[in-house]
Amino acid sequence: MGSQKILVIGGGISGLTAAVEAAEVGYDVTLVEQTPYLGGRVTKMHSYFPKLCVPDCGLEINYRRIKMNPKVKIITQAEVENISGRPGDYEATVKVTPRMVNDNCTACGKCVEACPVEIPNEFNYGMDKCKAIYITNGMAFPQKYAINKEACDGCGKCKEVCEYNAIDLDMSEETLTIKAGGVVVATGWTPYEASNLDTLAFGKAPNVIANVMMERLAATDGPTQGKILRPSDSAEPKSIAFVQCAGSRDQNHLPYCSGVCCMGSLKQITYVKEQYPDAQISMFYIDIRAMGYLEDFLVKVQEMENVSLIKGKVAKITEVANGNLKLEVEDIAQGNKISPEVDLVVLATGLVPSKVPGDINYDEYGFVAPDNIGIVGAGCAKKPTDVSNSVMDATGATIKAIQSVVGGGA
Ligand SMILES: Cc1cc2nc3c(=O)[nH]c(=O)nc-3n(C[C@H](O)[C@H](O)[C@H](O)COP(=O)(O)OP(=O)(O)OC[C@H]3O[C@@H](n4cnc5c(N)ncnc54)[C@H](O)[C@@H]3O)c2cc1C
Repeated sequence: MGSQKILVIGGGISGLTAAVEAAEVGYDVTLVEQTPYLGGRVTKMHSYFPKLCVPDCGLEINYRRIKMNPKVKIITQAEVENISGRPGDYEATVKVTPRMVNDNCTACGKCVEACPVEIPNEFNYGMDKCKAIYITNGMAFPQKYAINKEACDGCGKCKEVCEYNAIDLDMSEETLTIKAGGVVVATGWTPYEASNLDTLAFGKAPNVIANVMMERLAATDGPTQGKILRPSDSAEPKSIAFVQCAGSRDQNHLPYCSGVCCMGSLKQITYVKEQYPDAQISMFYIDIRAMGYLEDFLVKVQEMENVSLIKGKVAKITEVANGNLKLEVEDIAQGNKISPEVDLVVLATGLVPSKVPGDINYDEYGFVAPDNIGIVGAGCAKKPTDVSNSVMDATGATIKAIQSVVGGGA
């Protein structure tokens, strides 16, 4: 007899959706997430296209559904190291890193004031610092602190000031074995490493940033409290270039199109325009991909004043005086080479799938292949896609996982 449970790997919007969908039709679900908090990459966005609502509105309803449903068991800081078996009968080996903060935590924040250790804030892509004991943002779920074990010096100051006895520095690493009849792999994506793009100056010129960083610059709980400022001198940018397909559709980097970066940049143009209506904005693209109803959003941005969408691939970026950047581009429509100078450059880097080791078939790019039977990919682990398609895809994946529980994948 196989297992009647469903394992969901990854607690982003796809994994959350799969977990609640399966639990709400009566299945026991274990949701494992490798970081201390649920929500995945969406928690780091300033707003969602196309409606430009805040990410919390989509996430919060799922957190509520999870809290109300005893059939969902969440394990955070849990990374799947291996998965093996067959439809109806899988076994996952999961390494759980200690949080060192227990459920007594009220997120009061006294521990943060006491902690003497500062580290680069991973949530803000290293653009500011946080303490070794931290919570990522006000809407973080679960609402309790976590200690970065590698960074913590064990001084115990957080424990001294905690009035709730919530700090447990003796928690240790565990390895769990989880059995499941069906598995949803919703491990999502990481941004393509922009420093691999030798000619585009990322990591050398501070005012060349990646698109994911722009989301944090615009976010009110980001490193600049939502004000879009140049990293080098905190100046308000007067001219910004968005460089599309930074590494995407390129055999030397990511051969595929990530599907969401054009819309991501069009959305970020609206962030800039809201703060700096007079800013000169250019977006350099190979093709603009705004499918279906997203066309309206594209037209709205095209019609904005001082916004130029220019067909041409940026070949090189060089830092010039005052931290400004000079771009070398072929303007395809005009048939000439241009070299505009701007204050800030945003590289639209693509999505790299996060893989789980074990008995899972992946396609040539590392996305979960459609030919797996009891192990099903969902959202960006399966293909680069936006939030609404991730949600629909996760619902479909849940049905496939339930079929694996019920019929062993038959
Ligand atoms: C710049 C930019 C802007 C964007 N803006 C928008 C937008 O405005 N609107 C929109 O619809 N879409 C947008 N997107 C796309 C959006 O980010 C994705 O659709 C969304 O993140 C997909 O969610 P997911 O759950 O599939 O993956 P993720 O958000 O990546 O979540 C995956 C989760 O799995 C966890 N995980 C990974 N590996 C493991 C493991 N081995 N074990 C346990 N857990 C693991 C991760 O920690 C993470 O929490 C944007 C993308 C970019 C690049």
